[in-house]
Amino acid sequence: MATQKFELMSLPYAVNALEPVISEQTIGFHHGKHLQAYVNNLNALLPGSGFENLSLVEIVKKAEGGIFNNAGQILNHELYFGQFRSPKADNQPIGQIADAIARDFGSFDTFKEEFQKKGASLFGSGWVWLSADADGKLLISQESNAANPAQRGLTPLLTFDVWEHAYYLDYQNRRPDHLTALWSIIDWQIVEKRYTAK
Ligand code: MN
Repeated sequence: MATQKFELMSLPYAVNALEPVISEQTIGFHHGKHLQAYVNNLNALLPGSGFENLSLVEIVKKAEGGIFNNAGQILNHELYFGQFRSPKADNQPIGQIADAIARDFGSFDTFKEEFQKKGASLFGSGWVWLSADADGKLLISQESNAANPAQRGLTPLLTFDVWEHAYYLDYQNRRPDHLTALWSIIDWQIVEKRYTAK
């Protein structure tokens, strides 16, 4: 059987649609160079690996080393780039995810505070995640490098990339300012879909 080829995801918005929160230049490098490199690397590593015909999530759950790192980064970035929309003032969660956030964190503001704190305090490169367990309970986690909560059987819902490549051109060392700004571009309809589809 032929080895499958992964392809660079298409952005569901224009490259400048997230400005001024994320610049066109950052999207160009982050999606067009960094994510493209993970796709190229994974495609180069797959032949002969035994993972040739597994889904991306299955590869992330089973692989180690370079295959895991590149597959994990593809999965992480597909969820990351897939969750945004143009900036919106007073952007709020909707539907069942809004109810679950209120239930599990007390309020949207408390949730945002805890999420940002975990993102700002993550040492080195990685991701902060909102995910759901099998009962729909929400939790926030810090994941290093290419890790994803799906490795532990959780459903990933929302993520902030805290690798420096995600913000350095626009915010330099001001990671907390970048994280604060991201709330205005979250597409809560997408997060709601991920939550209700699980
Ligand atoms: Mn990234």
